[in-house]
Amino acid sequence: MRGQDYLEVRGLTVDFDGFKANEDVDVTFLQGRIHFLIGPNGAGKTTLVDALTGLVKGTGLASYNNKDLLTMKSHQIVRQGIGRTFQTATVFEELSVLQNLDIAGGLHRRAWGMVRARRGIPSYVEEAMETVGLADLRHRPAGILAHGQKQWLEIGMLLVQDANVMFLDETVAGMSAEERDETGELLRRIAPERTIVVIEHDMEFVRNYADFVTVLHAGKVLTEGSVAEIQADERVQEVYLGRTATADPSVGEPVEEGETDA
Ligand code: ADP
Ligand code: MG
Repeated sequence: MRGQDYLEVRGLTVDFDGFKANEDVDVTFLQGRIHFLIGPNGAGKTTLVDALTGLVKGTGLASYNNKDLLTMKSHQIVRQGIGRTFQTATVFEELSVLQNLDIAGGLHRRAWGMVRARRGIPSYVEEAMETVGLADLRHRPAGILAHGQKQWLEIGMLLVQDANVMFLDETVAGMSAEERDETGELLRRIAPERTIVVIEHDMEFVRNYADFVTVLHAGKVLTEGSVAEIQADERVQEVYLGRTATADPSVGEPVEEGETDA
């Protein structure tokens, strides 16, 4: 049996031509704990995930399995078992749920040809479909899935890729309350064996499902702790909780006509 997995980030800085989107970030993501990253729009949440998945260059240390992710290319990081979703869904719309999962799983196999030549559904694909609740929709083209289902398919794609660390960037944004709860329950099902990091704005979702919360502000860690701890922190209320809608226009209600000060 292997021990508890963790990803340890120390002194991570991402510098875009002199603008530090992340500055000296220390954070530890632990297996078995649903870890939320919150903070106003522009706080550097996505950039942190980009740096840890090899999409932007970061300095400092990001230690996982005794390797420094900051020295690795994105495909090598994927092979370490680190996966992510993006703020916009990246499923193949014309292909079915099953085909999307099969292709995602194929990244682990030797050749594309094996995917097509093989008969039957590999057990890990079947398992992933069950876990994310899409088994009954296996033949449905991904393009006509409901918004929430598409996001679950993406999580399924990370499962078949054997991602032990999953970064979910605003996965529940735009979901109905019911879809959000189903997503939370899904995360609870998969979290014990994995390191789950969720970027989210919806505070009710955070309260319901976060085991641990790190608050980013202006590229730095403002504070971290349990939901109760960060909610009691005045600095958090100042920069984030007290004015979520204005801090992040993307989570506010759409502006009604006539409300704009044109
Ligand atoms: P969040 O995900 O918390 O909303 P981001 O990580 O996307 O924030 O962005 C953090 C800051 O870094 C923002 O001010 C954004 O404009 C800036 N930024 C992000 N990507 C780049 C880039 N490639 N070049 C320059 N600035 C960037
Ligand atoms: Mg973002």
